[in-house]
Amino acid sequence: MTQTIGIDLGTTNSVAAYMKDGRPEIIPNLEGEALTPSVVAFARDQRRWVGRVAKAQAVANPLRTVFSIKRQMGRVAPEAGAGEQIVSSIKRHMGSDHVLTIDGRAYTPVDISAMILEKLKADAQAYLGRKVERAVVTVPAYFNDGQRRATRDAAALAGLEVVRLVNEPTAAALAYGLDIEQAHTILVWDLGGGTFDVSVLELGDGVFEVKAVNGNTRLGGDDYDERMAALLAERFAQQWQVDLTASPESRRMLRDLAERAKIRLSTEAQAPVTLPRAFGRGARCEVTVTREAFEAATADLTEQLEAPARAALADAGIDPVELDRVVLVGGMTRVPAVRRLVRRITGLEPYGHIDPDQVVALGAAVQAGVLDGGLRHVTLVDVTPLSLGIETLGGLFGRVIDRNTPIPTSRSRLFTNARDNQTVVDVHVLQGERELAADNMTLGTFSLSDITPQPRGEAKIEVAFDIDANGIIHVLATDLQTDASRRILVEPAGAPRREEIEAALAESRARMDSDRRRREEIEAGIRAENLLRAADDMLGKASGTESVETFAGAADVAAAAVREALAGGNGENIGVAAKELENCLKALQAALRKAAAFLATQGQAA
Ligand code: ADP
Ligand code: MG
Repeated sequence: MTQTIGIDLGTTNSVAAYMKDGRPEIIPNLEGEALTPSVVAFARDQRRWVGRVAKAQAVANPLRTVFSIKRQMGRVAPEAGAGEQIVSSIKRHMGSDHVLTIDGRAYTPVDISAMILEKLKADAQAYLGRKVERAVVTVPAYFNDGQRRATRDAAALAGLEVVRLVNEPTAAALAYGLDIEQAHTILVWDLGGGTFDVSVLELGDGVFEVKAVNGNTRLGGDDYDERMAALLAERFAQQWQVDLTASPESRRMLRDLAERAKIRLSTEAQAPVTLPRAFGRGARCEVTVTREAFEAATADLTEQLEAPARAALADAGIDPVELDRVVLVGGMTRVPAVRRLVRRITGLEPYGHIDPDQVVALGAAVQAGVLDGGLRHVTLVDVTPLSLGIETLGGLFGRVIDRNTPIPTSRSRLFTNARDNQTVVDVHVLQGERELAADNMTLGTFSLSDITPQPRGEAKIEVAFDIDANGIIHVLATDLQTDASRRILVEPAGAPRREEIEAALAESRARMDSDRRRREEIEAGIRAENLLRAADDMLGKASGTESVETFAGAADVAAAAVREALAGGNGENIGVAAKELENCLKALQAALRKAAAFLATQGQAA
């Protein structure tokens, strides 16, 4: 039996988690992140993006990018367009359901949700190095039968059996261990991207019962983003005479800037916002928003949170003083004004120390662990099922122990430093048969520090693998010059079962070519997106000399081209555009360095 994972299929973001050594842990996606934006984009050449890349290309492809599909799950109804249109038409047609037609193909909300779940599943398999076929999936406590059925259907389409649907607030309580702690009356305050849910839970016989739910399915972070966007649009118009509300592209970009500024204001008193040059007609336009101004502009939204919370308490027949715990869920509960309100209403310091946007998925994993019976299969293998090794220079897989080696066994290999004077090596332990490290399964990572600094290729680092009779893998890395060493242990629970290995091998053989192409495409997308981020960062700082301005302008145009290419979906075009952006960034970097050096000499002269 394969391990059951936990999935929070969110309106804005989705998250997967699993039980590891009795504790819930996040399963990062292929991009290395905990949160996968619940966004699906249809590029113009049939290519589909899900997650971060889909969100990033939305500026260039707003009408073929689908956000917030969860809102429509399980509703029955006619038709609509795509992208922004869908979202706005849904607002008008609440209670009716939608089919979106893209390139003549009709997609239901279940289809779109399945695409998100497919990515979560695929990424979880890649991360865990084994098949994932079963999941505990969370749903809002108020989801009706139809909506719950639709969620199951979406999972089935994605090849996942839903072993249980769990209410989101219950999952959050489980993540905090409130069942074990015997906290009896709990208020869960969930403010996400598009919805606000308050639930009152009562623990009885080790099971949480939902006593009351209330909230607002039309209120969430998006509304705050909208207010921030309006603020920004006004300031850019006033200070820089740019109208950012004119096109769908500039509106989407404005929303991205707004969200980032909002997030920044959760920890800082003010947020500077710089416009991509393409939108500022080549000029570097910046405005600043203070937390105070943002709070003033959203005070009425925050106020709207109070009535549903009080109503939920009243419906449950509970006075705030009777609450044992208050739990915060949803990224928006990081907003200081929201926390202040929770404190004021409940009189309690809310629990928010588990990442509020991950807590539901972690709780789903806890439930999955319970359903798996806590019975972990300790596989007693007599041979190594797959080759073991570490990642070496250029992302290659360096085999240390070959597949089918009888165990117990131990073997070591010498590796060296990739860079001059390197003092830390990161050891990435992998298993698999593919030539690229990235194509194999990660068993663990650790770093060996305090290596004697030496020219590239001179250090002697011995990596020893030791597999005992129980299949437990010990990996020991030693700097032979100093004898400094670090070791890690890989538990047998991490080892795949026999049939899974066979299946994985067969599948990897059968899918070798398409797998590789797909991975290359995905990697090109991720690389492009990373470049876009680097560009954003750099452009935010780029001002000063004329040459900096020129190169920044060019980089900005190149960044727009990358977004455009992502929207087009063609791998080759993405590669070309990304390369161009990379070159522009290098040129910009050089110009920035020159400008800095120039300033320094000016400083000395003065
Ligand atoms: P959902 O449950 O709707 O999928 P999440 O719980 O992931 O959503 O919350 C997403 C919302 O949280 C978005 O509006 C996002 O901008 C917001 N958010 C995330 N982090 C922060 C932060 N640090 N400060 C303010 N808002 C945040
Ligand atoms: Mg959520």
